[in-house]
Amino acid sequence: MDLLLHREFGKTSPPGTYPAPRSKDEEIVPRLYPAHPGKTGFSWGAGYCPVGDERWFFRGDDERPAIAEQMKQTPCPHCKVVGALIWHGFLYGFDESRGQITERARRIFCSNRNARPGCGRTFSVWFADKIRRLSLTAGALWRFLQGVLADGIVAAIRALKSPLSDRTMHRIWKRFDRAQSKIRTALLGRCPPPESLPRPPTNPKYQAAAQVLAHLQAAFPDANCPIAEFQRTMRTFLI
Ligand SMILES: [Zn+2]
Repeated sequence: MDLLLHREFGKTSPPGTYPAPRSKDEEIVPRLYPAHPGKTGFSWGAGYCPVGDERWFFRGDDERPAIAEQMKQTPCPHCKVVGALIWHGFLYGFDESRGQITERARRIFCSNRNARPGCGRTFSVWFADKIRRLSLTAGALWRFLQGVLADGIVAAIRALKSPLSDRTMHRIWKRFDRAQSKIRTALLGRCPPPESLPRPPTNPKYQAAAQVLAHLQAAFPDANCPIAEFQRTMRTFLI
């Protein structure tokens, strides 16, 4: 089971560039990686200082019993108390793949009721194929981004057959565009970018975006959806 905590990105580089290599003494994105990536699952690792609305990611509902079991031994990300975490409802949103409102995340409550020792705060556990403030699944987003590189944004929107408006899809592309430098920085902590692109973008203006997607694929070569795997592994939303 891999259930990982959401974290914000570390330092970023200027848009359109890869950060210059640094010395080994200086970690590029130290906050992005758990102590034992992908192995320990439900754990924050040592030395983390979670703040704000914490998020974990999980693959699917079949992990729920294992998560419930792990919650008993997992410290709250806010107050570090062990043994106070309980399920606490759902987050719903529209899902384009099903054309209906679906569950997007679970809430976990650090219980301070009935003499429980918790702090009373909550945090989210997200399905890895969901993206906050976006009704596209990670898989649909992946198809859309690749479609833009191959055929341009207008054709990509048409091919996706999403109920989202063209304006929204343009906004989603911009959101990805803005996130590129952060994504690159995160991926560099995992593997170097590929030396060459599998397929150059049709329009040269998408060259940087094509590099990011190729890098993403190279970082998670076995994943069905590199975006979902990025979110689960990096503990953060792609965009
Ligand atoms: Zn707590």
